[in-house]
Amino acid sequence: MVIITVFSKRKKELSEVKRKVVLIKHITDSIITYAKSWHPNEGILIVQGKKDKHVINVTGLIIPPFSTHGPYYSGFPVYELPFDLSYIGTIHSHPSGSNKPSLEDLNHFFGLVSIIICFPYEAQDIGAYDRNGNRMDVETGYYL
Ligand SMILES: [Zn+2]
Repeated sequence: MVIITVFSKRKKELSEVKRKVVLIKHITDSIITYAKSWHPNEGILIVQGKKDKHVINVTGLIIPPFSTHGPYYSGFPVYELPFDLSYIGTIHSHPSGSNKPSLEDLNHFFGLVSIIICFPYEAQDIGAYDRNGNRMDVETGYYL
């Protein structure tokens, strides 16, 4: 009985560890500018970064080759990408006012994190999600 109690407590603690995505201000600004330039269509970028325990540090953004953009869809053929371990996810824009991932977004999940910025494309409009659609904390380099 004691063993079961201890085990379940430990498991709970583990599941409560929240992952965080850290963007420096310069990267946040690039995301905002890119999203605004594609409006009213979606824009999409590949995210370069490093994962350190529970923190994902974004270090760069790559414009994917052969990307497609529409009001409800943006994407790129993954097979056109060079194999690069620094590619840790994607960021795309939602011209609607919601930065929640769509079912389509989760079905086409790439890497560790899906970052979404929604209209009106300010720093506080950025959300980040894992493969299961769980929200992660986002640091944008701005004081919100
Ligand atoms: Zn989407």
